[in-house]
Amino acid sequence: MNCNQVRDLILTDYLDDRLSGRILDEFKAHLLKCADCREFEQLARQAAIEPFKGLTTAKTPEAVWQNVRERIAEEDRRFSPSWVEVLGNSWKNLLGVRPAAAWVGICCVLILTFAVGQHVSRQKVLKAQDKEKVEYLAFLLEYSETATQNGNSGYGTDIEAMFL
Ligand SMILES: [Zn+2]
Repeated sequence: MNCNQVRDLILTDYLDDRLSGRILDEFKAHLLKCADCREFEQLARQAAIEPFKGLTTAKTPEAVWQNVRERIAEEDRRFSPSWVEVLGNSWKNLLGVRPAAAWVGICCVLILTFAVGQHVSRQKVLKAQDKEKVEYLAFLLEYSETATQNGNSGYGTDIEAMFL
């Protein structure tokens, strides 16, 4: 361990009483043989430790902690608004900052909803028409089958009866 390493340790871990094990042994061994580092250690101790000797830990008044808790809770409320506030604010922002864009967006949504609704109801009408056609075809087929079975190939109308 050289002088620079020892002086770095003096200013950091040694004065905080955090040195241990092999590093502490090497550190002490260096101080025993190096007068300059011993002097540096004395100066550092006087500058960093002596002025604060005899100080006691002051207890923080409960009112201060209460204030801190209230401020934290206030910040939490401000940064995590409810979804109703979020919706309300975004609605206000949309209408306030870019009213034209907001209305264009709303109109697009309405038009799309209407168009999709029209398409769906048209599909339903087409399906209903198809069903009617199929039912009519089935009726005709059934009718012609029963007519054939009865030996009557006509449609059974009055006009047919009059002319045939
Ligand atoms: Zn040294």
